[in-house]
Amino acid sequence: MNQANFYPGPSRVYSNITEYIYEAYMEGYMSINHRSEQFMELYRNVKAELRTKLLIPEDYEIIFTSSATESWEIIAQSLTVKGSQHFFNGAFGDKWASYAAELTAVTKTHFGVNEKLPTGDIAENVDVLCVTHNETSNATMVSMDSMRMLRSENEGKLIAVDVTSSFGGVQLDYSLADIWYGSVQKCLGLPAGMGFMILSPKAIHQAESIGENKRYNSLVRLLENAAKDQTSYTPNVLSIYLLYRTQQASKGIDYVAEKLANRMNSYTDLFSKTEGISFLVENEKLRSSTVLALSTNTPGKIKEKALERGIILGSGYGPWKKSTFRIANFPALKTKEVEKLMAFFAKYY
Ligand SMILES: *Cc1c(COP(=O)(O)O)cnc(C)c1O
Repeated sequence: MNQANFYPGPSRVYSNITEYIYEAYMEGYMSINHRSEQFMELYRNVKAELRTKLLIPEDYEIIFTSSATESWEIIAQSLTVKGSQHFFNGAFGDKWASYAAELTAVTKTHFGVNEKLPTGDIAENVDVLCVTHNETSNATMVSMDSMRMLRSENEGKLIAVDVTSSFGGVQLDYSLADIWYGSVQKCLGLPAGMGFMILSPKAIHQAESIGENKRYNSLVRLLENAAKDQTSYTPNVLSIYLLYRTQQASKGIDYVAEKLANRMNSYTDLFSKTEGISFLVENEKLRSSTVLALSTNTPGKIKEKALERGIILGSGYGPWKKSTFRIANFPALKTKEVEKLMAFFAKYY
């Protein structure tokens, strides 16, 4: 790959993917049956690897879906009785609320990009609280302190968290929520085409007591199969294999999160000195550590100039489409690519 791709999803994939794909072919993974012992062993292995490298608790179940979007529907159809409350400050959180509103009663709680999660603002009659951990559209991130506050004040409710663009790059305290979900084409550095859900014992219990089983992706069905290390429909085995191998090669979340934090410090330094480019989110504590959103009058020109030098920058998204551009700070990006990007901005801006 001769271009450095900083798009925050789909994103740069790990460079040893080609090797793993070859291996998957040679070992027959591309054509195995999902009820076979070979598949069940792979499923056990990927769960164990994720638990070890990303510190996911033993009693949380891990299931695979087709996308993060599918999780929006699964949560609304299989885990929500009365309704869900959605805290959001950007386009992905807003979309989640819209998808849920087709299936259940929804309360929308909007907050500003320079504000903390409004944890005191809880609606009546909701059983699921929905938080977008890393809002990819504006590069804000909800802190684990805010999550802890939300958890401590709402023990009786389920908490669902979208970690699509932070899972695999940031330390998460899984005990602070019941449903953590996302997809693989962002921070996990894999080709698009698969999502995942991580479910607490409380979420599993809730799914069982609701017992919603009308759909191919009803959660009880997915969980029953996951308990046997199987899936209810033929899954993306290749993607599961690539997830397994890339996580196996990972040095673990502490190492990865520190690497990304160090890179983010360098970016913060760099963009405090650039002319006509500044962070969209003023409060440093509310900024994402895996995605940057930068405000400027000329995002199109900057992207074009970067592209001429082999650097792909991400467009702005949703309401910030015309006033920002974005940069992924995902683990699969190589140091030499980051240096190239930084040299570009240092030289021209
Ligand atoms: C990309 C993204 C999604 C959608 O992911 P799909 O895999 O396309 O469904 C949802 N939420 C966030 C925060 C995202 O960044």
